[in-house]
Amino acid sequence: MIGRLFGVASQRVPSLLYRVSLMMKPQVVFVLGGPGAGKGTQCSRIVEGYGYTHLSAGDLLREERAREGSEFGQLIANYIKEGKIVPVEITINLLRKAMEETMKKDEKKFRFLIDGFPRNEDNLQGWNSSMEGKADVKFVLFFDCGNEVCINRCLERGKSSGRTDDNRESLEKRIQTYLQSTRPIIDLYEKLGKVRTVDASRSVDEVFADVKIILDKEG
Ligand code: ADP
Ligand code: AMP
Repeated sequence: MIGRLFGVASQRVPSLLYRVSLMMKPQVVFVLGGPGAGKGTQCSRIVEGYGYTHLSAGDLLREERAREGSEFGQLIANYIKEGKIVPVEITINLLRKAMEETMKKDEKKFRFLIDGFPRNEDNLQGWNSSMEGKADVKFVLFFDCGNEVCINRCLERGKSSGRTDDNRESLEKRIQTYLQSTRPIIDLYEKLGKVRTVDASRSVDEVFADVKIILDKEG
C-alpha cells in the first residue's frame, strides 16, 4: 500500500524536484583567515584526502565577474579591487547554486568547505536567514596568520596570479576589511565553541598535519 502511494507520488512530482527533496542536508565547514593565510591551499589538500567539495566565495565571485551577460560583473569587479565585501545576496545565491549543482550531480557529495565566508555581519545574517535549517554548519576552520606573512604571500602570489587585488594597495584594504569585519565573526563563533584554530604561519605540510588532526576527529 505504502509502496503504491509512494509510486503514485513519485510519478506526480517532477523528477528533479523529487530527487532534490531526497538529498542529504549539506554539511558545511566555514574556512576563514586573512587574505593569503593559505585557505585555498589547505582546502585543495582536504579535498584530496576527505570527501569534501571546496567552494571559494572569492572564486565564485570572480567567475561571476567574468561570466558574459552577468548583471553584477562590474559591481563585483569594483568591490574586489577595493577589497570590499560584495553584497550578500549575490554571494549567497552563488554558493547555494554551487551546492545544489554539486549535489544534483552526485548526491553523496553533501560535505562542503565554504572558503572565505561568512566574511562579515551581513554575510552571517544572510546565511542565517536563507540557509537556516537547510544546511548544518559543523564548525569554522580558522587559519590564523600574521598580517605581514599574509601580505608577503599574496604579493608573491601576485607575480603570477593575474589577480587585480594581489597588490600592496588592495592588500592593505583587504587586511583592514579582514580585521574590522571578519575577525568579529570568528570571535562570535568562538564564543559558541565552534572554532578550530590552526597556526597557519608555518609550512604547508605542518599546517596540513594540524588540519588532519581536526578533520580526523570531527569527520
Ligand atoms: P588564501 O586562499 O587564504 O588567500 P592561498 O591558499 O591562495 O591563500 O595562499 C596564498 C599564497 O601563499 C599562495 O601563493 C600559496 O602558494 C602560498 N601559501 C599558502 N600556504 C602557505 C604556507 N603555509 N607557507 C608558505 N606559502 C603558502
Ligand atoms: P578571496 O579570493 O577569498 O581572497 O576574496 C577576494 C575578494 O572577493 C574579497 O576581497 C572580496 O572583495 C570578495 N569576496 C570574497 N568572499 C566574499 C564574501 N564572502 N562576501 C563578499 N565578498 C567576498
